[in-house]
This record gives sequence, C-alpha cells and structure tokens, in this order.
Amino acid sequence: MSERGRDGQGGRDGHGAQEERGARGRGTTAAADEQQAVRAFRERVGLPGLVDVHTHFMPDRVLKKVWAYFDSAGPLVGRAWPITYRHEEDERVALLRGFGVRAFTSMLYPHKPGMATWLNAWAADFAARTPDCLRTATLFPEPGVEAYVKEAVTGGVRVFKAHVQVGGYDPNDPLLDPAWGLLADAGVPVVAHCGSGPVPGNFTGPGPVAELLARHPRLRLVVAHLGMPEYSEFMALAERYEEVRLDTTMAFTDFIEESAPVSRDPETLGRLAGLGDRVLLGTDFPNIPHPYVHQLEVLERLGLGDDWLRAVCYGNAAALFGLDGGSAGTQGQGPTGTQGQDPADTQGPGPRRHPGAGPHRPRGPRR
Ligand SMILES: [Zn+2]
Repeated sequence: MSERGRDGQGGRDGHGAQEERGARGRGTTAAADEQQAVRAFRERVGLPGLVDVHTHFMPDRVLKKVWAYFDSAGPLVGRAWPITYRHEEDERVALLRGFGVRAFTSMLYPHKPGMATWLNAWAADFAARTPDCLRTATLFPEPGVEAYVKEAVTGGVRVFKAHVQVGGYDPNDPLLDPAWGLLADAGVPVVAHCGSGPVPGNFTGPGPVAELLARHPRLRLVVAHLGMPEYSEFMALAERYEEVRLDTTMAFTDFIEESAPVSRDPETLGRLAGLGDRVLLGTDFPNIPHPYVHQLEVLERLGLGDDWLRAVCYGNAAALFGLDGGSAGTQGQGPTGTQGQDPADTQGPGPRRHPGAGPHRPRGPRR
C-alpha cells in the first residue's frame, strides 16, 4: 500500500544514535546542528515554536527501567529500540527548549496498582519546576482512582496519560468510569496509548475505545501514535467524535514505517487533511530511535501543506491547552504553563508571532 522510500532516503536516521553518546560529552556541535535543523523546519513552515503533546519525563529510576526495557527489546516493544536522547533530565529539557518546543508533557504511566499517586506527585513537582511542562497525571483501575483523578483535576492538571497497552487494563473497567466522567466534564485531554502497536495488549485496539466513547462522547481523548497500527479505525473515531484527537507520535517515521506503515493513498491523506484541526504533534522524546527533526520532516513530506503543519505542530495544541491566552475550554484553568518561557526565540531569527496559532480548518492536501 504505502510506497516506502518515497523520499529517496534509504537509510534510517537513527543509526548514529546507537553510538554511546556521553550525556555531557555529546558534542555541542551535534546539538547545535539539530537545533538548526529544527529551526530550519520552523522557518520553512512559518512556526514560532512547537507544542509536543507526547514527551516522556518521569522519575529517574523509572525512566532508567524504561530504557533498559527498550534496550532489551522487551515483549511490549518487540524489537531493539535505540534511545537517541539518553541524557540527564536537565539536558533533555534544554534540548526541547532549544528545538523551540514551547510546551510539552511528562507522559508517565503505571503498570500496576499503587503507582499512580506517586507518579502524579512526581509529575506535579516536575511541572512546578519546569514551567513549560503541561502538568500531567495518570490513572489505573484501582480503588481510589476517582479521588486522585479529582484531586489532580482540581489541582490544575492539564493533561492525563492512559497507557492501555503497558497497563494491561480494560478502559471500560467500572472502576475507571467515574474518572472518565470527571475528565470529560472538566475537558482535560487524555493521551491514550490504545492502539495495538508496537505489540497488541489484551485491551488495545479500537473496540474498547469505541465502547468507552459511546458512554463518554465528550471525552477529550488523544489517541497516541495516530492509533498505530489501526490508523484507519482510530481516524474513524475522530471523525465521529469531535473531541477525539490523534497525536503523531512515531507515525510516518522510518522506524515505524518498517513495521506499521501509514498508507499514503489519496483517501488516507484526504482524511488526515480533514482531521487537520484534530491532529497534534507528539514525538515520544526522548525515547526515540532518530533525531527529533525526523518526526517533523516526515510530517512535512506528507505534502498536506503549511497550514496543516502549523495547526498540527502548534495551533491545535495551543488552542486545546489555551496557551496563547485563549481559553482552553477547561474549567477554571488558565494558560499557566508557558508564560515567560521562550528560549528558542532568543536564539535566532524567525517569526515571533503566531501566524498559524489559532485552530485551523486546513484545506485539502496540496498536490
Ligand atoms: Zn510514548
């Protein structure tokens, strides 16, 4: 279906990443080159900055375990998965800022009961000391989940992460139902890894999510990884429910195209264009097997046009989270996440204002 190698790029961008790069010793040249590549993308498209709704920050020992799991090609990953940005936390944050990312998340997730409140406390602290991080929380079907979700929402959480694959739970577990209701009422987006990629779980796939949305049609579900590999089915849910969104995380990248390619037929591209106000940039930084800019370039290569890219890489998330002083549509939550944080703009020329910052209804694919 999908024509691979259509861009003439035979190799994967990620190979250099497999070399051991000492966290501090990694050349500033490499970092500067990467920043330059991302800035060139932003300038081509006319983007003052990026919003990345799918980045992973978590307690250090948890992240080290995740990295070890990726290194060992654990069963939920399925294959060796090189980590490009295996750095200390402050360096990872600095890298995102250097790329011009104005707001990002700290996706974390429990794989068993009793973890979520501890993770949420860490994430609250992380967001407090990292003003450009949208405070993130997670949940698990367990006694008390309604209470801690309520507490998080009242406390100003901006986004939730639900990992149906790693968590191994049914999103329709009755224990979770009041929590979904709370999140739907508060309009807090929930980024959910609910597709069956890279490896299916007991409750992954569009079926359980369709059931959930039938009960909570206003839930602001952000389907991670564009629903990989059930792209078409999850796009159909977004087409049916106007609060459902999709993040781009890892989709279209060389690494994923090897196993779960997205079709580039006109119908699929047309659907992606039609969902242009509901697709959000996500990357999986730092746990990615390629340089950050690769995710941006593969989106650009879809040929859906600069309006689409501006909406996806900035405008849609800015509107969803109320980042430019607009209302996020959530209750009682102002744009507290990003003010005063704009280090990217101190580093070079480029548009300062946001030509594409509003919610967009992009035109069809440019061809
Ligand atoms: Zn992820």
